[in-house]
Amino acid sequence: MKVLVLEAGRDYDPITETPMFQTPRDAPLRGAGNADKPFGFYDATVDGGWRVPGEPYTTAPGSEFSWWRSRMLGGRTNHWGRISLRMGEYDFKPKSRDGLGADWPLTYEELAPYYDLTESLIGVYGGEEPLENTPASSPGVLLPPPAPRVYELMTRKYAGAMGIPVIPAHRAVLTRRQDAANLPQKLHPGNTLAQKVLRESMQSRQQCFYATSCGRGCSIKANFQSTTVLLPPAMATGNVTLITDAMVRAVSVDASGNATGVHYIDKMTRTDNHAKGRIVVLAASAAETSRILLNSKSSQFPNGLANSSGLVGKYLMDTVGASLGGQVPALENLPPMNDDGAAGDHLYIPWWKYGDQKKGKMNFARGYHVELGGGKGMPGGGQFGNLERFTNGAYGRKFKEEARRFYGSFISYDGRGEMIPNENSYCDLDPEVVDQWGIPVLRFSWKWSDHELNQAVHMQKTFAELITAMGGTVQGTVQTDGSKAIARGGQIIHEVGTTRMGDNAKTSVLNANCQAWDVHNLFITDGAPFVSNADKNPTLTILALAWRTCDHIVAEAKRGAF
Ligand SMILES: Cc1cc2nc3c(=O)[nH]c(=O)nc-3n(C[C@H](O)[C@H](O)[C@H](O)COP(=O)(O)OP(=O)(O)OC[C@H]3O[C@@H](n4cnc5c(N)ncnc54)[C@H](O)[C@@H]3O)c2cc1C
Ligand code: SF4
Repeated sequence: MKVLVLEAGRDYDPITETPMFQTPRDAPLRGAGNADKPFGFYDATVDGGWRVPGEPYTTAPGSEFSWWRSRMLGGRTNHWGRISLRMGEYDFKPKSRDGLGADWPLTYEELAPYYDLTESLIGVYGGEEPLENTPASSPGVLLPPPAPRVYELMTRKYAGAMGIPVIPAHRAVLTRRQDAANLPQKLHPGNTLAQKVLRESMQSRQQCFYATSCGRGCSIKANFQSTTVLLPPAMATGNVTLITDAMVRAVSVDASGNATGVHYIDKMTRTDNHAKGRIVVLAASAAETSRILLNSKSSQFPNGLANSSGLVGKYLMDTVGASLGGQVPALENLPPMNDDGAAGDHLYIPWWKYGDQKKGKMNFARGYHVELGGGKGMPGGGQFGNLERFTNGAYGRKFKEEARRFYGSFISYDGRGEMIPNENSYCDLDPEVVDQWGIPVLRFSWKWSDHELNQAVHMQKTFAELITAMGGTVQGTVQTDGSKAIARGGQIIHEVGTTRMGDNAKTSVLNANCQAWDVHNLFITDGAPFVSNADKNPTLTILALAWRTCDHIVAEAKRGAF
């Protein structure tokens, strides 16, 4: 099929642009984050962040919500954490288990083959042991996990004693080169062109050398980002046309309500344009996709397109986040070593309390996983502020000794938990505010329920127990008030939902193929179709669902449906 890709941000090529090998000393503030670059000077995001100049959003009175957007080719996949966890069987049928939220119109078994395909395509390392609701990949799909670092081994030892499992993390990083000779045939059977471009793409990807930060992007293509792994082979087919700096504002429809293409602003000339299409696929990130639909108003669709259910924008979710750190004397004065590793988690803690929940012993539904931080990465700006609290004003040689003693003795835990969708968390169009292109902006309404607030308190208590068990000292306050323990809505940057899928056109926007109930040639392939937001980070599921949707589009096109 011929595909036109419209991207609101600028063109971006990690191979030539990533500041992968620059050191903190070459950066302002030694690379520390600031308002323009919250994730540090070298973060891969070139345009975007918590604020996008000229493109505001608003929050409803009494609501707090933060929205991270990127405006660049490849979007947030250029700098994401690459944590790639599968949702499990419980996660697709949450309402059937505890009566809360809603069920997905598909099962884990239906998506599992697409998880295998996606993991094989992008390259994911991890362990293969299945645990309850933590599924294994098919044999041979995952790449070997990297060896754990000291702070991860220590967490495993003490958490193990508390009955908490610590197992290999899953991340989209090549710990070994891909099998370019055989994988393409498995991923695209019968399609020789797809096999050829994929083979060449896989051959061009190197194995991670454990020395740089994935958040800056990867010029050797060892990690997954759309700009190195998906777009180049797609472009090499000759079937894809890409237009960057093209801000889509609305989907156009004909008299019978079928999508005919999209209206977009050419940001370079500031002119309004139209692109025709037989099929329209929206993937502008969850909330932005809803914004496009809500702005696609006409006399036929006064409430926006695909919105006969009134649910476009509704059931917005983020991830529950709470963190705690500590200083652990047993980690002091370790010999100098390279703890960089594959830049993110080698081990993590999956949710382990399904049994207690079933027995009614917990004061919240659903679970969380834990991401581990620590070690002796290359120090940059901001990091020694932490250390100074321990060095008692030492300076000169004594300060250096103290720095060597303490550096690497800090450990941190980030809980990432499931949020249950609720009626009070949604986005709609602000009736007054428009962006610099004249497009009405989103207004966010947000409320956590007690399930999320109690979960955040549980995270903090658990982390404090773990740090204390290691003989460490907690840094900061262990919050017992959920509203203080929990990160602000949107802050974990896992916003999903707003055009949920379902098996009933009255209670969902999309069917099980991510196809709009109201517009048969309109599909959505970002996080907007999510029905729930399991503790598992969303991107692997977004990719697997997108692949499944594409298969459906191709099958339908072949039978002449469009
Ligand atoms: C620091 C950070 C760490 C993260 N870590 C993880 C992790 O470890 N694991 C995980 O699963 N997820 C992680 N995420 C989340 C992950 O990045 C997102 O889930 C994922 O990128 C969503 O993909 P998407 O295509 O829906 O949206 P995006 O990646 O945001 O892409 C949307 C694209 O659409 C373009 N666009 C937007 N509006 C328009 C418009 N109107 N017209 C045309 N184009 C438009 C944007 O410019 C962008 O290129 C992280 C995110 C951040 C910021
Ligand atoms: S840690 Fe590995 S995958 Fe990540 S940027 Fe460095 S080389 Fe690439």
